[in-house]
Amino acid sequence: MNLYHLNCGLLHAPPNPRAACHCLLLEQEGRLALIDTGIGLHDIADPAGRIGEFAIEAAGFQFHEGLTAARHIEQRGYQVGAVTDIVLTHADPDHAGGLADFPTAAVHVSVEEFAQLQSGNPRYSISQFAHQPNWVLHDTSSEQWFGMEARPLSILGGTDAYLIPLFGHTLGHCGVVVRDGGRWLLHVGDAYYLRVELTTDDHPVSALATLRAEDDAQRRRSLSNLRRLVQLHGTEVELCGYHDFTEFPQEAVGL
Ligand SMILES: [Zn+2]
Repeated sequence: MNLYHLNCGLLHAPPNPRAACHCLLLEQEGRLALIDTGIGLHDIADPAGRIGEFAIEAAGFQFHEGLTAARHIEQRGYQVGAVTDIVLTHADPDHAGGLADFPTAAVHVSVEEFAQLQSGNPRYSISQFAHQPNWVLHDTSSEQWFGMEARPLSILGGTDAYLIPLFGHTLGHCGVVVRDGGRWLLHVGDAYYLRVELTTDDHPVSALATLRAEDDAQRRRSLSNLRRLVQLHGTEVELCGYHDFTEFPQEAVGL
């Protein structure tokens, strides 16, 4: 399996730091899977209609076609139509905007996140789902991964991958873990905004995380689970989040 780290968008609302949209692209035998989708081509064509002026201003959405997942995929010589699976950590507009650029892909999400989306919660941009994604819902599982609940994902013909519930930021927010050679890579989504949150509650970004959390107590429990995971299994598991620019490997493009 080939694994690529892509920056699929940029957010900047000073005094908050510039934020990335760190997506993963997996390739196996010509089939592609995406973990989160960033800001998409449809968002760029109609920002106000898709995301809304208020959210654009509040989160500092920037619109660059060259950063979209679709363009990254083409730049690497792949076809956009080869994306068979998309896994969403959650459905916030900066994560789900690219979905409509891959209308035939199966879209994997937790049942809890899907229920939130259906509930009319105003944090989501309903127009980003108007193309009626081909949803695949993942319910509670008795499987475990390093002591955490793990919901098996069947993507790319059986790659080792799981949704890991890390609720709090949204009520169905999950991390996504994939086997990458001898190690695991856990994409934690927005379970932290900046990696420094793994070691301190004192950073100013923690206040933003609290503000944006649907359930802050749950968010803090998810963050402590990640801290424990790093302490106990830091040599077996690599972590990356969605918004921290410092977490891209050197070879990542589009920064
Ligand atoms: Zn986000």
